[in-house]
Amino acid sequence: ASGYPLLRDPHYNKGLAFTEKERDAHFLSGLLPPVVISQHTQVKKMMHNIRQYHVPLQRYMAMMDLQERNERLFYKLLIDNVEELLPVVYTPTVGEACQKYGSIFRQPQGLFISLKEKGRILEVLKNWPEKKIQVIVVTDGERILGLGDLGCQGMGIPVGKLSLYSALGGIRPSACLPVTIDVGTNNEELLKDEFYIGLRQRRATGQEYAELLDEFMSAVKQNYGEKVLIQFEDFANHNAFDLLAKYGTTHLVFNDDIQGTASVVLSGLMAALKLVGGTLAEHTFLFLGAGEAGTGIAELIALEMSKQTNVPLEETRKKIWLVDSKGLIVRSRMDSLQHFKKPWAHERQPVRNLLDAVKAIKPTVLIGSSGAGRTFTKEVVEAMSSVNEKPIILALSNPTSQSECTAEEAYKWSDGRAIFASGSPFDPVEYKGKVFSSGQANNAYIFPGFGLGLIISGAIRVHDDMLLAASEALAEQVTEENLENGLIYPPFANIRKISAQIAAKVAAKAYELGLATRLPQPEDLVSYAESCMYSPNYHSYR
Ligand code: NAP
Ligand code: MN
Repeated sequence: ASGYPLLRDPHYNKGLAFTEKERDAHFLSGLLPPVVISQHTQVKKMMHNIRQYHVPLQRYMAMMDLQERNERLFYKLLIDNVEELLPVVYTPTVGEACQKYGSIFRQPQGLFISLKEKGRILEVLKNWPEKKIQVIVVTDGERILGLGDLGCQGMGIPVGKLSLYSALGGIRPSACLPVTIDVGTNNEELLKDEFYIGLRQRRATGQEYAELLDEFMSAVKQNYGEKVLIQFEDFANHNAFDLLAKYGTTHLVFNDDIQGTASVVLSGLMAALKLVGGTLAEHTFLFLGAGEAGTGIAELIALEMSKQTNVPLEETRKKIWLVDSKGLIVRSRMDSLQHFKKPWAHERQPVRNLLDAVKAIKPTVLIGSSGAGRTFTKEVVEAMSSVNEKPIILALSNPTSQSECTAEEAYKWSDGRAIFASGSPFDPVEYKGKVFSSGQANNAYIFPGFGLGLIISGAIRVHDDMLLAASEALAEQVTEENLENGLIYPPFANIRKISAQIAAKVAAKAYELGLATRLPQPEDLVSYAESCMYSPNYHSYR
């Protein structure tokens, strides 16, 4: 493009950063005011503007507008200010954005595939302007963060996740495709909302649902080939496990809520063990929430324990207990349990609530994966602290409103002894004259580097050993100094370097397992990963 359309094309627009020569050569003279400024100055100006907004949703909208106007500047801003802007484009603000997506809707982002497109999904894919797609993040909007069914408005999640793929993992933005599959919503409020953007009907289920998903999965493979990564995001668990099992053998699929979360939490535990001592197998784990996140994490912990000790998985699972909305998962509940809970039904008397479960099991690690806010009460944290010198407490649920407890509560109620991390970020807390910073146990540490590793190796399938490799790679990035400050995750500021390390370990595992197709294997995978990463700096146009 040149001239006016060039200024309107977010992929190429540089705004006031077009040089005099570029303005002459591309018919931009007169279309811009005389001043020429650098990208650096543009970043400074945008950050200044964004900081003027005190309502988080306004910051979100300013960022989305920038993405629509000048994509490189958007990524430059996000990369250079990742700690400040992650909570804007991702959790917690993206949750509110999804809830209000209809009323803040301006420009469509991503691809909407609804029941209306049944029978012609391949055609719909071809409407997307980019042809070379490497990563698809797809949701059906049924379990958006811990906020429930947001239907078609869940689109904010694939859009946000993919902007992190580019900013944190260096996948080219043009190779990323956000998709929302709209089969209706059971959210009564949205069905009544005059600004709702999706199909105004209750969710299709059963065969109708399965057929639409199947058509989508086939069309994707036909259109983009076998090496496109399809990340399932925020599906309800009654579909998520089945989709992963069904397509795991035919497609390159990854469920971030089950697998990405598992990998990031295992990594945090590996780091935390350096603070509390003992091996994984010497600890006892209790979860509040036995869904995708909870059972996914539990399974990866059990797998790692089994690898470390040579004890079979069926045995290592016994160190891990889960509580769901009906109480502790125990043997006597077996018949009525969903299939993904059954491996966790160990022998024990029924226990009705979390507090009694903590008292009965005396876990060293407590993990919140319930989506239910404020469920780690004072009594629960105190009970954890009475049986542990340094209780490990992870409140994973997003957004902040759903966090099982706040950082302040965790430190106060444990008298400053908890090792705490949370899914959405909390500011540092001052308690008894000491400042406590907590880490963010969020799969955003894992999926960008994980995806990069799959792509640079040309992997055709995801394997659990790759998740373990990613956990190790992330845990290795936690410094002594981080640990001394109680941090079990490294700061996000270094995330691109961290992603390259994760990518290299994941790619190495893909080669080792014979799942890589990019041959020969690059000698130095870290520098190869780095060399593949998208940079948001402007190109000069001749
Ligand atoms: P899910 O599959 O729907 O599972 C939720 C589980 O929590 C279910 O087992 C449910 O019990 C249980 N539960 C809900 N309310 C409860 C309560 N009041 N008391 C006890 N148990 C309760 O959801 P998910 O995909 O695992 O996600 C759960 C949460 O984790 C969400 O808030 C999500 O944002 C968060 N998450 C965080 C990350 C991260 O990176 N930090 C990643 C993924 C997910 P029943 O089975 O009996 O219904
Ligand atoms: Mn998710």
